[in-house]
Amino acid sequence: MIDNAVLSSKELMEMEDKYGAHNYHPLPVVLSKGEGVYVWDVEGKKYFDFLSAYSAVNQGHCHPRIVNALTEQATQLTLTSRAFYNDLLGKYEKYITDYFKYDKVLPINTGVEAVETAIKLCRKWAYEVKGVAENQAKIIFATGNFHGRTLGAISASNDPSSTKGFGPYMPGYEIIPYNDLDALTEALKDNDVAGFLVEPIQGEAGVFVPDEGYLKKADELCKAHNVLFIADEVQTGIARTGKLLATCGNCSCAKSCEHNPELRPDILILGKAISGGVFPVSAVLADDPIMMCIKPGEHGSTFGGNPLACAVAMEALNVIRDEGLAENAMHLGNIFRERMQGLVDKSDLVNLVRGKGLLNAIVINDSEDSKTAWNICVALRDNGLLAKPTHGNIIRFAPPLVMNEEQLNECCDIIEKTIMDFKV
Ligand code: PLP
Repeated sequence: MIDNAVLSSKELMEMEDKYGAHNYHPLPVVLSKGEGVYVWDVEGKKYFDFLSAYSAVNQGHCHPRIVNALTEQATQLTLTSRAFYNDLLGKYEKYITDYFKYDKVLPINTGVEAVETAIKLCRKWAYEVKGVAENQAKIIFATGNFHGRTLGAISASNDPSSTKGFGPYMPGYEIIPYNDLDALTEALKDNDVAGFLVEPIQGEAGVFVPDEGYLKKADELCKAHNVLFIADEVQTGIARTGKLLATCGNCSCAKSCEHNPELRPDILILGKAISGGVFPVSAVLADDPIMMCIKPGEHGSTFGGNPLACAVAMEALNVIRDEGLAENAMHLGNIFRERMQGLVDKSDLVNLVRGKGLLNAIVINDSEDSKTAWNICVALRDNGLLAKPTHGNIIRFAPPLVMNEEQLNECCDIIEKTIMDFKV
């Protein structure tokens, strides 16, 4: 039985504090309901969600079509493990490979598991196809990256809050500066390099958008050196940045980019919004010459490819298309940055705004270890909008993509008013 006792926000926060590990520092608000772009706290106060569970709830909270897919499938079959076939996995695999135009998918659960999968796949390819000597394969990563919290992922990080106290780290990694083609050119001279794993926009680092053309050129350099270009689109993918994928960000087609990709990663990593935030679903996509390097028994997960995940992910991806969410993110993102630029111009507190589509951030004019951005987020909460600082002085703004223009303008009004009224 679920404990249905009605507790206050204060009591619930104290409970988490007492019984839960302290590996997070949440904004003080306790949510109990979500619908579309809104969430409600246990006292019934309504907020605009401007984080979308770190870009997992792109389709909006509790989207009825996705919830329906979940509940219908939950009454049929939830988990078989991969010891047996199930009647949805093949359909899902066909669906998602058609959707993203790859030969094959490896279904898994969380973003970081998909990153680990991509790293293993890349190493296997290096030994079996590229001919790198056993245990010598190297993978290049970029400074400022965030690929998740396992040892395999944090070994690629240069952020002490991710790494300190958790060593020793994984060998075979090289970290080069982000957005630096000279550094990549230099690193690629090593024949043992198997892959370059990169975020098209660094979300967690504070929404760093690389220079126009960086990704395309990086991909070309990788191809010229027989190195796999691996895109971690866990946060940027699924329409968040105004295109179905951010790696298609430079093409000029009016619709979502899946029909005309300018840049096609050799390995594509997806997670978060692939399930609309309903539960953990992630995926690694690649073509046969890469994906077929992994054989039965060499990699997997009890829950990966479960029928519930297949039903949910198919409907979540249908919603992205049917509701034109990439186009909406592109349109609203332009309005959002224009309005925030106005704020930069009139407030000494905001240094700059950056982002693409509906993945944006403002940089607060204060040091990384100040509490100003945190306190602004608390004031935003009081004014009915939820956002969270990253790296101290940066506030990420990533609302559900089902937002409409009127709602977005209302949110911009809240942000402007909060910051203009804010006293450091
Ligand atoms: N990769 C990127 C780019 C992310 O932003 C994240 C999470 O924020 C991850 C990987 C890890 O995903 P998860 O938290 O689902 O393991």
